[in-house]
Amino acid sequence: MELTEVFGSNVFNDKIMKERLPKQIYKALKETIEKDMSLRSDVADVVANAMKDWAIEKGATHYTHWFQPLTGITAEKHDSFISLAPDGSVILEFSGKQLIQGEPDASSFPSGGLRATFEARGYTAWDCTSPAFLKTDEAGMVTLTIPTAFYSYNSEALDKKTPLLRSMKAVSKQALRVLRALGNTVSSKVTSTVGPEQEYFLVDKSFYLDRIDLMLAGRTIFGAPAPKGQELEDQYFGAIKDRVMDYMNDLNMELWKMGITSKTQHNEVAPAQYEMAPIFATTNIATDHNQLVMETMQKVALRHDLVCLLHEKPYAGINGSGKHNNWSLSTEDGINLLEPGNTPGENVQFLLFVSAMIKAVDTHADILRATCATAGNDHRLGANEAPPAIISIFMGEELTDILAKISKGEKITTKDAEFTKVGVDTLPEFPKDNTDRNRTSPFAFTGNKFEFRMVGSAQSIAGSNVALNTIAAEAFDEIAGRLEKAKDKNAEAAQIIKEIYKKHSRVIFNGNNYAEEWVKEAEKRALPNVKNAVDALKAFVTDKAFKLFEKYEVFSHKELHSRYDVYVETYSKQINIEAMAAIDMVKKQFIPAGLEYATFLADSAASFKDIGVGASVQEDILKKLNTLLSSAYKNATKLETAVVKAQAMGDAVKQAEAYRDKVFAVMQALRIDVDAMEMIVPRDTWPVPTYTELLFKL
Ligand code: ADP
Ligand code: MG
Repeated sequence: MELTEVFGSNVFNDKIMKERLPKQIYKALKETIEKDMSLRSDVADVVANAMKDWAIEKGATHYTHWFQPLTGITAEKHDSFISLAPDGSVILEFSGKQLIQGEPDASSFPSGGLRATFEARGYTAWDCTSPAFLKTDEAGMVTLTIPTAFYSYNSEALDKKTPLLRSMKAVSKQALRVLRALGNTVSSKVTSTVGPEQEYFLVDKSFYLDRIDLMLAGRTIFGAPAPKGQELEDQYFGAIKDRVMDYMNDLNMELWKMGITSKTQHNEVAPAQYEMAPIFATTNIATDHNQLVMETMQKVALRHDLVCLLHEKPYAGINGSGKHNNWSLSTEDGINLLEPGNTPGENVQFLLFVSAMIKAVDTHADILRATCATAGNDHRLGANEAPPAIISIFMGEELTDILAKISKGEKITTKDAEFTKVGVDTLPEFPKDNTDRNRTSPFAFTGNKFEFRMVGSAQSIAGSNVALNTIAAEAFDEIAGRLEKAKDKNAEAAQIIKEIYKKHSRVIFNGNNYAEEWVKEAEKRALPNVKNAVDALKAFVTDKAFKLFEKYEVFSHKELHSRYDVYVETYSKQINIEAMAAIDMVKKQFIPAGLEYATFLADSAASFKDIGVGASVQEDILKKLNTLLSSAYKNATKLETAVVKAQAMGDAVKQAEAYRDKVFAVMQALRIDVDAMEMIVPRDTWPVPTYTELLFKL
């Protein structure tokens, strides 16, 4: 098949709908999708039937309502199309009701107290703005997959999609108000768009299966550094190994079939690290697709006897993985609100929206930070390979200069002498691509979009985009309110830009975010620097956060609190798993291996001495090894005690703090002993694959 035929061949997309639905039904469905209305049941019946026929022709036997619970991964329950006719024969059925709503048992998903155990029911509802598609498993079973929102009996959101859709609605409404106030009478909808770049590692499956830590925690809790790391800078954009290329080809094919626009692929900075970037899409589709990307990456890897690691920091000492969340806003008639234009009017609009984002990010830096707070991402943020835990915005010198001049009421000049009017000021035409590529900023303006680089590689991008959309909505709301009242819109716009720059320019930083000086400078600017997830998550339960999310109807008080509870608990669970895996490996693998080699050294020393030869080498190594063994044994015992104590704590936040301060700290100490032991014990005796094997034998 040609690529153009492969692409989207497993999607019930617009083309298929047009072909297979009666004209009236197609029109009604399109209108529902475009205007965010609810689906009529007569329309749903016809659509469901067409979907079923299409799916069955393509080999499907089952359908599933696919949803995104707070675990951060996706969930699905499969039902077959079979149904019994009155005469006992089997017919294939899929009704509009079954398409629109499902009723999975919600009791085994984290809800943060939203769902009482006596009301275990959860509901799923088709998000018709994200097309249904076919998922094929490795055994060849095909399932009609319907993207859905997941909520409780009381209509409280139990998932990540519902708040995302709500936030998209909020930002559209407020952005449109700004556009209207500026004289745009045509555009009818603003959508947030996202292109998430996904980083990942590959490791040979046989090595992976020999490492309890990788299997259970997704990262190596132990491991001495390989003699070679990333210092030669020979991996990034280097030629892709054949085995990996085979994998990528296979991955692309699977993604393309599901209509996912896998576009760019390359080697990343660390050995065995790679990246895939799609073409951007509407935020909810981009989010659905990113979940599928993560799932497919893992599935396809197994076919190649590889394992795909999505953890933010699988290996110490080399770069970890993140997700660059490229975000922008566009009208349905094709105007990118973050795109500098060619006319004065377009530039006022651009500067207003950019300024609004400066205000939004400065005001709610804590919330953005909280959306990236996971145990895994703690290893990455601030580790001089990823953005620091401090949120700042990179605007580029030129744009910063223009904003600064407007704020001071200064004239803006340019070499090309192409002036355009903004209020009382003059503005040059903005050259596109004027932003140099600052790679260290957590929130970089990159010409016509912002790139939020804090998101962890294993995370759903939903949370960060819910926050981005909502904080943008709030800033637009305030700006729209002022513009609507103003007589001279241009003068008011200039005034708003001026005021925002004066108040919020502290969040702009164009320098090196990895530099030690920036940490000090940020402190002077009173920018928050929250170094760990447990503290960062607290930003979800401040008055400011409740007010924000309630005002724009994205989260109720209860819904927001439930997220906090779930994420704090998840943090504890994560560290608990790591600690248990660490104890297991030390007691059953590393100490026995150390003892084995120690015994060999002792025996060897004794037999050397028997024949009157000195055994200083054996004695020297044995002494060192013995010290490490006792220390590891002591620390493992300490870790056991710390875990038991943490497990017994009643208060969830105190518990998470105990995991962070007590459990994690001992784990780190234990790692030092074990890694030092690994440097001494012969490879044949060492019970698990080493960093050299994990990173280079691919
Ligand atoms: P890099 O950061 O590696 O230089 P690119 O410039 O190629 O990456 O683009 C990164 C991502 O940004 C891609 O997924 C691309 O589709 C996405 N992108 C481009 N324009 C927009 C936009 N208007 N809204 C959201 N994402 C966008
Ligand atoms: Mg990028």
